[in-house]
Amino acid sequence: MTENAALMLRRIPQVDALLGTPEAQALGEKYSLALVARALREEIEEVRQGLIRGTGTLPQAEALLAACQARLEGMFETEKPVVINATGVLLHTNLGRAPMALRAAQAAYQAALNYSALEYDLKTASRGDRQAHVEALLRELLGAEGALVVNNNAAAVLLMLMACASGQEVVVSRGELVEIGGSFRVPDIMAQSGCTLREVGTTNKTKLSDYQLAVGEHTAALLKVHCSNYKIVGFTQAVPVAQLAEFAREKGLPLLYDLGSGAMLPLEPMGIMDEPGPAAALREGANLVCFSGDKLLGGPQAGIAVGDKALIDKMKRHPLMRALRPGKMSLAALEATLQLMRDPDMAKRELPLYAMLTQSVDDLYQSAQTLGHMLGDIQGVDTQVVKTQAQVGGGSTPGQMIPSMGLSLHPLKGSVEALGERLRVGHPPVIGRIQHDSLVVDMRSLLEGQLPLLAQALKDALVVEEENRA
Ligand SMILES: *Cc1c(COP(=O)(O)O)cnc(C)c1O
Repeated sequence: MTENAALMLRRIPQVDALLGTPEAQALGEKYSLALVARALREEIEEVRQGLIRGTGTLPQAEALLAACQARLEGMFETEKPVVINATGVLLHTNLGRAPMALRAAQAAYQAALNYSALEYDLKTASRGDRQAHVEALLRELLGAEGALVVNNNAAAVLLMLMACASGQEVVVSRGELVEIGGSFRVPDIMAQSGCTLREVGTTNKTKLSDYQLAVGEHTAALLKVHCSNYKIVGFTQAVPVAQLAEFAREKGLPLLYDLGSGAMLPLEPMGIMDEPGPAAALREGANLVCFSGDKLLGGPQAGIAVGDKALIDKMKRHPLMRALRPGKMSLAALEATLQLMRDPDMAKRELPLYAMLTQSVDDLYQSAQTLGHMLGDIQGVDTQVVKTQAQVGGGSTPGQMIPSMGLSLHPLKGSVEALGERLRVGHPPVIGRIQHDSLVVDMRSLLEGQLPLLAQALKDALVVEEENRA
């Protein structure tokens, strides 16, 4: 350390002196003096380190106070930065999956701020059941005898296996031993639940006779898993649910079905094929069906199990139920989402996911055009309205593309990767898709009213690019 640096270290303003300033006192009223002191100390420590390294300069008191204020504001920023999803993937697990309906968000907000009769029977002044409302709705909507909600679908699968088959064998097709998002693997969940996995068939073909040969005195259940994030095509065969259910019934075994997404609205009119729904799975004879709350249902993170009352009761009584149960905000949001599902038209109107899915390509074309106009005659980039392929994502409808439109941005100088990064670290962050040497922002995954925000973010990123080069 130079002599000069040592001198400057001694001249850094003192925390106590700074705390006495009107600026610090005002911050103290807004937050607390203890937090202001802490932020100042952290700020001063950074200055010290900079001076010792020889890279920093000695700041004035005003600069330290301003930095302290920025630190506190950052700490108490209530909203996580809203991210604009321009990837064209509607259920992006890394971006928080389904955006919820306003009603569902409001229900969660009210639940957070108030007391509620969460587990309280108002009529009898006795203990109530926190799941009574969602359970009734699920039974009505899906024609199920029983229903249960836990923290997420991985938890639902785990609890289902533990309650129905712990210590015994569960028969699964080799074509269905899926991995979802890296940390959920059917064989691992099976091991954790204390069941023994009995694999049958091959990767591409499993026949009823394979199940017939595998079932024995140690078998406790048959498990079917929806291959929600990949597709085996070509020379393939799987046993349909109805046929497997009939065989399970003959053997007196339950058929458990991990459905994954759990759409409650008909998807074919939206161009999405082969995504089984929970009501159909139950009708076809599955005894327990479980799925996520935040995939095609469009609600909060949750795991939902529906099916035979006796099996649902076993899950409810399992000691781990308490560890896996959902919180009051999730339950409130889920209840509001399920209420919407009672009227498909309302659900389509109010659930952002379905609004996005049902937008016509013409409307998306218009949006892309409008976005282009909003950018005006911005320099340094070629823009072009392009056809794109959106997808549902989030472990649903693998390989199915939904026709969409986007705006392609081709930087004339500088790399497309640099532009992508500028957009990701902007305010708000924008996540697009790099295609060849252009960055494409897809219109289908945008939420209502986001175009002006997106236009501004694009302008900011492109202008900074220009300035950096100037
Ligand atoms: C998504 C998915 C899961 C995991 O669900 P989470 O709600 O993310 O826990 C499990 N099984 C299948 C088939 C899935 O698609």
